[in-house]
Amino acid sequence: MKYQYWNPELETMPRPELEALQLERLRTAVGWALRTPFYRERLPGAGIKSADDIKTLDDIKRIPFTTKNDLRDAFPYGLLGIPKEEVVRLHASSGTTGIPTTIYFSREDIKRWTGYVARCVYGTGCTRDDVFQNMITYGLFTGGLGLHAGGEEVGMLVIPSGPGNTARQFRLMQDFGTTVVHATPSFLLHVESIMRAEGVSRDSIRLKRAFAGAEPYSEDTRRRIEKLLGIDVYNSYGLSEMNGPGVAFECQAKDGMHLWEDGYIGEIVDPQTLEPLPDGETGELVLSCLCREATPILRYRTRDLSAFYTEPCACGRTHRRLRRITGRTDDMLIVNGVNVFPSQIEEAIMAMREVGNNYLIVIEKEGVLDRLTVKVEVGPDIFMDDARPLNALRERIRKTIQASITINPRVELHEPGALPVSEGKAQRVRDGRPKDI
Ligand code: ADP
Ligand code: ZN
Repeated sequence: MKYQYWNPELETMPRPELEALQLERLRTAVGWALRTPFYRERLPGAGIKSADDIKTLDDIKRIPFTTKNDLRDAFPYGLLGIPKEEVVRLHASSGTTGIPTTIYFSREDIKRWTGYVARCVYGTGCTRDDVFQNMITYGLFTGGLGLHAGGEEVGMLVIPSGPGNTARQFRLMQDFGTTVVHATPSFLLHVESIMRAEGVSRDSIRLKRAFAGAEPYSEDTRRRIEKLLGIDVYNSYGLSEMNGPGVAFECQAKDGMHLWEDGYIGEIVDPQTLEPLPDGETGELVLSCLCREATPILRYRTRDLSAFYTEPCACGRTHRRLRRITGRTDDMLIVNGVNVFPSQIEEAIMAMREVGNNYLIVIEKEGVLDRLTVKVEVGPDIFMDDARPLNALRERIRKTIQASITINPRVELHEPGALPVSEGKAQRVRDGRPKDI
């Protein structure tokens, strides 16, 4: 395969040079950080009073971690490092796990961010000949404008469709010959279900690729989307604290996401002890943003679980790859004392051919015990009227999930399209248990 690079020099830079560049940029970022009230208070206590206190890349370990709560406490301007009149944009996180946090950008910050996104887009094989339908939420969420700008930078024709209204999405695809889309994986599965239900023929659209991200999904889900739609799906990872999309992305080798190490420093730590873990081991991803002066964030605990690949990539890029994010440390459900990640359930069921495109995990209190129910849509070839095969399928799904999480779930089967679909990030878990206060 012929791989294409947006910025060959930076993307294939030999590691020693790349690390020298990281050090230089880390020092700059520490200088930016010291202009914010938050880090001016936090860094000197750790012996970092100026950029000169960072002498090697290893010195990053002296910088205290920053958490989501720190960002909330610093709201609204505690992490602003430039005069307000130089800020040209703000974005906020989706608030999946609580109050959203705000990030500011200078004009230069937007340019740098866009550059990283363009690198991702081009690295999947897209060119100016492509027509890009951005089916993700615009607005405060970074996914919309982030990919939009990167797509334009590459020179693609960008259609800012946003999510929802599947009938209109198909019309746009047909009218303008869309070749690439960006969406959450759950929305892509929904699109496929609707396409089938409405009888939209695959030959009437020219789709080749999709960027899928913003929420965890399994390798089986990727393969399922690829097969159903006949396209290549590229995993896209980002978070507003690190600008948004464009932090890590799959290249055409589709085997792990390159973290752009000239713009971000990544570490994997043990989420309990916070000690660094060697490449290859799974832990919490900690990221430092080297490319944003307005809201500099260092050693941010993403709570996302991943690992660095140890092998170099076939594409020739030297930036290390991150393994598919399996979930967040705070996604973990405790069901009758057993730890369960929703991704374990997804992995178990999405590999089953008879399982359809959507599922929902429900937890309730039943007396003193927790009761886990997995609601599963069946595939389009399953007849809902035929009780015997349906019971057998339900039993098989139950056993598969139980083998994976050790808990015995209740399984409910639903018709295709019956379970709720979210326009933004999928809500896979409904936890109806009373909260301890
Ligand atoms: P929020 O934390 O409110 O959801 P963001 O909108 O900034 O804020 O979303 C960033 C988060 O979305 C990441 O920290 C991660 O948990 C999740 N995410 C983004 N892309 C992916 C991906 N490709 N795979 C798994 N999770 C992802
Ligand atoms: Zn690669």
